[in-house]
Amino acid sequence: MVNADRRTASAKVQRIAETLKSMYGFHGKGGRRSNPLDTLIGTLLSQNTNDRNSYRAWVNLRRKFPSWDKVAAAPLTSVSSAIKVGGLRNQKARRIKEILARVRRDWGGYHLNGLHRMANDEAMNYLLSMKGIGEKTAACVLVFSLKRDVFPVDTHIHRVCNRLGLVRTKSAAETFKAMSPLVPEGTAYSFHVNVIRFGRELCGARRPVCVRCPLFEDCTYERKYEFHGTAGGKRIGRDVRDFMVIEHLAKKKS
Ligand code: SF4
Repeated sequence: MVNADRRTASAKVQRIAETLKSMYGFHGKGGRRSNPLDTLIGTLLSQNTNDRNSYRAWVNLRRKFPSWDKVAAAPLTSVSSAIKVGGLRNQKARRIKEILARVRRDWGGYHLNGLHRMANDEAMNYLLSMKGIGEKTAACVLVFSLKRDVFPVDTHIHRVCNRLGLVRTKSAAETFKAMSPLVPEGTAYSFHVNVIRFGRELCGARRPVCVRCPLFEDCTYERKYEFHGTAGGKRIGRDVRDFMVIEHLAKKKS
């Protein structure tokens, strides 16, 4: 992106961030710093399933194996059975065991405390070097455990950013790269929370409620007029509960 285009895109992101802030508020990075290894494995469990089932998989896993060394020592089938409610249980169990083996090799124990001393790029690259860990999972560890100013991109954010014309990308990983330099400094976490809420309540995947959208003028979605003349989709009547596992980690007492 050339400089002039980037300035225009940054200004548009800023404008949209302000609108969403006026709708949903500003969210500081509250809560305790969750353990990075907990966040990494919790986010891995959230892949390809909904929040509720990934949370149940997490609770089952921790009940059965209260420490990571117990997971590392357990047979693969026992780990897989503990997390089956979250789907892809064999693949996820294998990944968890591989991650634990790698962490033990690199850090001499089942923790990722060394990430706290790394710069953002270094920490991202380290996490991305693990099999099965993509940009969203790595960014979640940075924002939720290390409290860094990083903008994780999930499926809702990827959809909304493309509809609004902030990026033209084909995957959440591409959106993460394209959005990172555009998000106003110090607002990544809050903007992330607000875009997810907007994506769930108004800009849903199948039937966006364009008729009530305050970002209609900024939106470049080619079907927005089709949805503008109707009541649009049903409002999703549930709390913003993205990353239930991570919220649980951030709230639990040390
Ligand atoms: S106008 Fe419709 S498609 Fe565009 S951002 Fe708003 S809700 Fe989404």
